[in-house]
Amino acid sequence: MPTREVRKTAVRLSDGRQLIYFDWTARPGRDAADQRGLPPAQADCQLRYDPLLAAWAMYGARRQDRGYLPGAADCPLCPSAGGRYTEIPAGDYEVAVFENRYPALAESAGPASPPDALLPVRPSAGRCEVICFTSEHDASFAELTPDRVRLVTEALIDRTAALSALPGVAQVYCFENRGREIGVTQPHPHGQIYAYPFVTPRTAAMLRSARAYARRTGRNLFDDVVAAERTAGDRMVRAGRHWVAFVPHAARWPYELHCYPVRRVPDLASLRPAERAELADFELDLLGRFARLFAAPAPYVCGWHQAPARTGRAAFALHLELFTVRRTDDKLKYLAGSESGMDAFADDVLPEQAAARLRELG
Ligand SMILES: [Zn+2]
Repeated sequence: MPTREVRKTAVRLSDGRQLIYFDWTARPGRDAADQRGLPPAQADCQLRYDPLLAAWAMYGARRQDRGYLPGAADCPLCPSAGGRYTEIPAGDYEVAVFENRYPALAESAGPASPPDALLPVRPSAGRCEVICFTSEHDASFAELTPDRVRLVTEALIDRTAALSALPGVAQVYCFENRGREIGVTQPHPHGQIYAYPFVTPRTAAMLRSARAYARRTGRNLFDDVVAAERTAGDRMVRAGRHWVAFVPHAARWPYELHCYPVRRVPDLASLRPAERAELADFELDLLGRFARLFAAPAPYVCGWHQAPARTGRAAFALHLELFTVRRTDDKLKYLAGSESGMDAFADDVLPEQAAARLRELG
């Protein structure tokens, strides 16, 4: 399968943030200037370390100023048109990526505690970007064309490589939150890219498990988990030539899907053209099933788990994790005492039941 060339145009918004257009074909207006005259972007982010949990937390002082659920007439992610200026100066776009105006992570100045401090604090590093999947305000990812999904994947690959190369970046996470029940503040179809200056707790836990398993058995844990799910079969939702999708044995959410390439790779950039092509088909299919689960499309979080930029790359397996907080047409799963307080999940829906339901919707 031939590799198609993506056209990439990078510009600066009026406050200095970077914006990149990704297109399959040449489009006019990609050099349009941001007319808003925004004051220079100033990040004021810091990191604090919890020595009990061995985990960093992120603080961004400007995040309280974010817009909340604007309509199409006020949407900052729609193209600029008719004298209304948005985050996207062009009059249209295919896929656009820009630095978040209200980041949780950004290169920041500020004091750092001494290296031996019990309660460490340090200025933030890394970056938060927004990726817009389409210029159509009322669309959803599940309604994109396969061609557009491929372009989104190419943009995520480009951003993962670029952000991994920034000083201090340890891991890049690309995800979409969809639906106001999940806490989405902008309804326009978009995802986010977080370039963390640390390896996230969830990835660190997976890598600890994988290393312990390799010491004990000499084998790769991700390979064996995927093989065990395929053998069990009753949680499988879809198996293709290059990808498999299943509800994990110990799923935490009412409906949760994990999607792995058959050939283990550390990150999106390592996928071959045929794997990227089948991936677009899988993503649309799986999100379509989530859209048909309930009377209204299920709110969801859909995130790409990639190996850290510099550590654990041989052991980790790229995979997509997709879940919804909706249990029934009129009930949500809330993170209550056990989940919020103890990180211990309790569920009503057995993973095998969830898988059977998701298979029916194919
Ligand atoms: Zn919009």
